Amino acid sequence: MKRFFVFLLCWLCLGQGYSQTAARLSPSRPKLVVAIVVDQMRWDFLYRFADRYGPGGFNRLLGEGFSCEHTMINYLPSYTAVGHSTIFTGTVPSIHGITGNDWTDQLSGKQVYCTADSTVMSVGNDSEDGKMSPRNLLVTTITDELRMATNFRSRVVGISLKDRAAILPAGHTATAAFWLDDASGHFITSSYYMNALPEWVRAFNNTQPVEKLISGGWHTLYPLSSYIQSDSDAQSYEGRFKTETSPVFPHEIQKIYETTRGSFRQTPFGNTLTLDFARSAVEGYHLGKGPVTDFLTINCASTDYVGHMYGPNSVEIEDTYLRLDRDLAAFFVFLDRQIGKGNYLLLLTADHGVAHSIGYMKKNRLPGEFMNAKPLVDSLNRSLAEMFGADRLVRSAMNNQLNFDLGRIQTLHLDFPAIRKASVDFLQRQPGIAYAVDLASPGTAPVPEPIKTMITNGYHFTRSGSVAIIASPGWMEGYAKTGSTHGSWNPYDTHIPLVFMGWGIHHGNTSRPVNMTDIAATLAELLHIQMPSGCIGMPITEVLGNP
Ligand SMILES: [Zn+2]
Repeated sequence: MKRFFVFLLCWLCLGQGYSQTAARLSPSRPKLVVAIVVDQMRWDFLYRFADRYGPGGFNRLLGEGFSCEHTMINYLPSYTAVGHSTIFTGTVPSIHGITGNDWTDQLSGKQVYCTADSTVMSVGNDSEDGKMSPRNLLVTTITDELRMATNFRSRVVGISLKDRAAILPAGHTATAAFWLDDASGHFITSSYYMNALPEWVRAFNNTQPVEKLISGGWHTLYPLSSYIQSDSDAQSYEGRFKTETSPVFPHEIQKIYETTRGSFRQTPFGNTLTLDFARSAVEGYHLGKGPVTDFLTINCASTDYVGHMYGPNSVEIEDTYLRLDRDLAAFFVFLDRQIGKGNYLLLLTADHGVAHSIGYMKKNRLPGEFMNAKPLVDSLNRSLAEMFGADRLVRSAMNNQLNFDLGRIQTLHLDFPAIRKASVDFLQRQPGIAYAVDLASPGTAPVPEPIKTMITNGYHFTRSGSVAIIASPGWMEGYAKTGSTHGSWNPYDTHIPLVFMGWGIHHGNTSRPVNMTDIAATLAELLHIQMPSGCIGMPITEVLGNP
C-alpha cells in the first residue's frame, strides 16, 4: 500500500511536470498580429472627430480594445523613420541608430537617408526608389524576434506608401516590404527581399488602383458647412497643389495627378490604397493561415502628407480622418472574416503627432512663430569666424542639431569644445530658441525633464549633430510657410494613440504614463518571445490583464 502511494505521488509529480512542459512548448499565440501606424496621428484625433466616426473604426478600437491614453515619445527628434524604428524595436535612436529620416554621418560628413542601400536594386521598376533596405537599423525588431522564435516560419510583411515606413517595422529578416512608386502608381520592393514581385502584387498593380481611387476627385464626405471641428476651408496658412489657385474643396485630384504624380499621397485615398494592398497581402501570403503567428505592419501615410500640406485644423484633415475611420472599419471586418474575430491581435499607434500651423496660432493669438535655420546658421558661422578665424565651421542644421565640419576643425587644430560653447552662447540669445545644448554634456545643461532625457535618448555619437536646438513651444522650422510639421519634444508632437484589440486583449484603458518604447516589450510578453536586441521598454501590465 505504501509503495502504491509512493508510485501515485511520483506519477502525479511527473504528470504535472509533463503538462507544464507541454504548455510551455506550445505557447498560445494569435494567428496574426496587425500593427497599424497612422502617420502624424495625435492622440486627441481619437476623440476630436469622434461624433462622426462610425461604430466600426476608431470607436470599435476604443469600445472593444484596451487604450493606453498617455503614451509618449521619449526621444528627439519626433520624425517618421525614428518613430517606426522605436515602435518596433522598443528602444531609442541612441541605441537603434535611426536618428532621423536623414542624418549626417559625423565621420564622413556625408548625408545619409535612413533606408538607402546602394548594394540592392529596385524590384518592380528601374528607378532608384527601390534601392532600400533596413541595414542602417542597428538592432532587431519585434518582427525579427517573432521570425527567430518560430525558426523563420512566421511570415512578416511591411506595407506603406513610404519606403522607410514599410522597411523599418518589418525588420532585417522580413518576408517582404512594399512601398509606392509615384511614377507608375505601383507597389515596388527591393532585391534585399526578392528578385521579382510576387504574382499577387503584379495583379494588384495591374488594376490601375491609383487612377481608380482618384477618378471622382476629392470631395468632402459630408456637406462642407458641417465640418465644424475645423477652420473654414480657405486659409492662407494652408498649402495648395501647384495647379490650384486656392486650397479649397473640391480638389480635382484626377487632373492634378496627371502632372504631379506625388499629389496622390496628399489625399485620403493614399490610406485607402494602403489598406486595399494590405488586404491583398493577407490573401496573397495567406497570412494568419499557417501553423505559426504571422505579422503584418501597415503605415497609413496620407494623414501625414495631408497634415504637412494643410495643417491639423483644416477641413482636409478632418475629412481625411473621417475617411480613414471608414477604411479602418472595412479593414477590421475583412480581418474578422479572413482570420476570425479574436484570432488576430491588432494595435494602432502613431509615429509622431503634429503642431498647429503657425498661421493658425497667430490668427488666434496663440504663441508660435517660424524659425528659419539657414540664416541662423549663416549668422552663427559669421560669429564663429570672428572668434576662431575660420569660416563655415557649421555645415548644416538637421534634425534640430548643428553639424560641424569636424575634419576642418581637426586640421586647423581648433578648440572644438570652445566652438560648441560659443555656439550654445550664440543660439541661446536668438528668438524662439528655448535651449541650446552641447550634446557632449547634456546632463549639465539647465534643461528640465523630460526634455533632458529625450535629448540623451536621441543622441548617437556618429549619427547626430553636436549641438541641439530646442525651440520654444509653438515655434517650428519654417522651410515651408504653410501647413505644419513635427519633430519637437512638445506634447503636440509626442503624445500618440496606442490601442490594442483582439486576441488576448480585454476591454479597458489606462492613463498611467507609458512610452513608445513599451510597445515592443508588451508585444514580446503577449507573444511569449524574446524582446528585440536593444529593447529598453517595459511591458504595459494593464494590457496583459495583470495590473
Ligand atoms: Zn511620420
